[in-house]
Amino acid sequence: MIGILALQGAFAEHAAVLDRLGEPHFEIRQLRDIDRPFDGLIFPGGESTVMGKLLRELGIYDPLREKIANGLPVFGTCAGLILLAKEVDGGVPCFSTMDIAVKRNAYGRQLGSFFTESDVRGVGRVPMTFIRAPYIASVSGDAEILAEVDGRIVAAREGNQLVTAFHPELNDDLSIHRYFLEMVRA
Ligand code: GLN
Repeated sequence: MIGILALQGAFAEHAAVLDRLGEPHFEIRQLRDIDRPFDGLIFPGGESTVMGKLLRELGIYDPLREKIANGLPVFGTCAGLILLAKEVDGGVPCFSTMDIAVKRNAYGRQLGSFFTESDVRGVGRVPMTFIRAPYIASVSGDAEILAEVDGRIVAAREGNQLVTAFHPELNDDLSIHRYFLEMVRA
């Protein structure tokens, strides 16, 4: 059972991918939603500043942070990646659970959206849609690089935490979500 943070942004697209994979899921919109049991968490793309603000206002921030720190598998895409980073250039760190430094809106306003294909370690070649994406400037500690595009880190993993700067939920390819579900089952 996967909980998808559904305060704002592209949460419905992740739900559609999980439906295609036959994985049960529910939306996290308020504090009482996280009382139910779940074994994985998805943070969608959207606006990290808005999500961070709502997480605190709704009282969801502390209990979710504790679950992540205790090893709950979490997958953050784009804004969701920013929520997990310990260092945020152009923003304020939110959960600060992952040893990555990110740069927000890193590709600039005009060139903010593009499509490419590249290899992800442990996954294979995947389509990558970037929308006003951040990139990972550096990883440290136990965080490892999973993918790079034009010399910029676009996917990383640290134990139970997986992040992509791109949006796998916007393409037909299911392999990144499959990879995450393997982390959940492990
Ligand atoms: N630029 C957004 C942010 O900083 C992320 C963009 C996205 O999630 N597509 O939150």
